[in-house]
Amino acid sequence: MNSSDKLKMALTAVIVAVLAYYGVAKSRTAPPPAPVPSPSKQAAASDLAGGKEKDTRILGEFDLARLYPESVLRQGNPGRKVVALTFDDGPDNQYTPQVLDILAQKGVKATFFLIGKRLAEAPSVVKRIMNDGHDVGNHTFNHPNISHFSHQDVEREVRTADEELRRFGVEAGGMFRPPYGAVAPDSIEPLARSGYRLYLWSVDSLDWRGLNLDQIVGNVIPQVTSGSVILFHSAGGPGEDLTGTVQALPIIIDDLRAKGFTFATLHEMFQAKPRPARQG
Ligand SMILES: [Zn+2]
Repeated sequence: MNSSDKLKMALTAVIVAVLAYYGVAKSRTAPPPAPVPSPSKQAAASDLAGGKEKDTRILGEFDLARLYPESVLRQGNPGRKVVALTFDDGPDNQYTPQVLDILAQKGVKATFFLIGKRLAEAPSVVKRIMNDGHDVGNHTFNHPNISHFSHQDVEREVRTADEELRRFGVEAGGMFRPPYGAVAPDSIEPLARSGYRLYLWSVDSLDWRGLNLDQIVGNVIPQVTSGSVILFHSAGGPGEDLTGTVQALPIIIDDLRAKGFTFATLHEMFQAKPRPARQG
């Protein structure tokens, strides 16, 4: 066994232990891979299959990027004063349009990781994200916690979301962010072989906790360095309040600009050409 294998085993053990403690024991038994329903039946659904962010979102710190530098990206070039704003869990008709308004006013392009089953709930918002020139990535179809899924079930979640994105005219180009940043190391290589790269983050606004403006600004601004990938949300689960995100966003953009940062989408930051997922 080489050191990389040992590290993988150690990481897997930690994931299992952490999940057992925080996710499974505390809130629910791990859901079995949900059958992927047809989009039409899902039009009204807005819950997240993996639970709310606070239930299962625990593995963001995990430095998979160091283990899989080609396939897992979380930090751009530390020598360039460029940052990427990223927004997960949209589209919705409440917060995503407000985020888009602010980005348009400020002339900033960002990256949206959309949940497949939500596209049919806000088709005009999807269209606007594209028309405004933002990047779109795949955030699974059902937003499950895939860290305990088989490779096959992970790929099915990702492929089904890609198909739904294409139905709305969006090509994610192999750009994938796992819900909660949680993924088993064993899933990364199969995903990479199918043409996907995983885009995590280096600065977490923690906005899904319903924080206020000052808390979100305080979580982001002191942490930003050259190449930071900043995580926000543009939609939440039922009852999740992202007012703080909408209020903090213009302040964060202005502050970073004043410090000399420019903004890039993830494709721009990593100079990644869209990589269409291969079939089979
Ligand atoms: Zn998410």
